[in-house]
Amino acid sequence: MDTIKGLLIDLDGTLYHGGRKIAGAEKLIEALRRAKLPFLFVTNNSSRTPEGVAAHLRGMGIEARAEEVCTSSLAAARYIAGESPGASVAILGEEGLVQACEEAGLRLVTDHPQYVVQGIDRSFTYESLARASRWIREGAGFVLTNPDLMLPSDDGVMPGAGTIGAAIEAASGVRPVVIGKPETHLVTYAASLLGIKAEEAVMVGDNMRTDIAAGANAGCKTVLVLTGLTTQENLEHYRQLTGVKPDEICADLAELMTLLGV
Ligand SMILES: [Mg+2]
Repeated sequence: MDTIKGLLIDLDGTLYHGGRKIAGAEKLIEALRRAKLPFLFVTNNSSRTPEGVAAHLRGMGIEARAEEVCTSSLAAARYIAGESPGASVAILGEEGLVQACEEAGLRLVTDHPQYVVQGIDRSFTYESLARASRWIREGAGFVLTNPDLMLPSDDGVMPGAGTIGAAIEAASGVRPVVIGKPETHLVTYAASLLGIKAEEAVMVGDNMRTDIAAGANAGCKTVLVLTGLTTQENLEHYRQLTGVKPDEICADLAELMTLLGV
């Protein structure tokens, strides 16, 4: 890990479970600051704003600022602005996506958009499905913040942005450009925010199918932490499923600190 210039750190399952901090999360972040090792919190979650994510972390005693958060909404908005500065977009999503698009200089419209950008949208309806799929069939670009089919919640799993995206894909016949993990746009964008190349970053996360796959796809080093989804027992199953192998595996965040030498 000597050549590492920055860390991209997953959130849910890596630093917390929902509203419960994972042991050592605040110590890890403090140690990274002390060691002056640059890092970003990198999340597929498209609903919260960076300030909302940072506030959630601070509420659990993990020091965090909005500028240290990179969401799939930020990366999606930057992707569209990079392709077509000032483009008109129709948003199927929540506060985090709306704010990201506004701050990227995109024009929010409710008809004839150049792009449909979609994240988790808990007010999604048949009508919004019909409109979005019609615009896309008529030629609008289709950008999906993150492909997660399901989201953990207090009531068990709930449909995620990827499930809504699958409905729009079925209705339009067009596959979206996917920004979040396991695709590479989010990870590459996050590395660029740190001013480093993906090859100089290490992606840390609990999910083989998203974090480790995205990191490997983007050319990052990868560290799997067994703090969330992946366990010693299911590791081999996920390894076969994804065809990727993390560079390092840490049982917990204390082991990660040792690995990083912080
Ligand atoms: Mg995770």
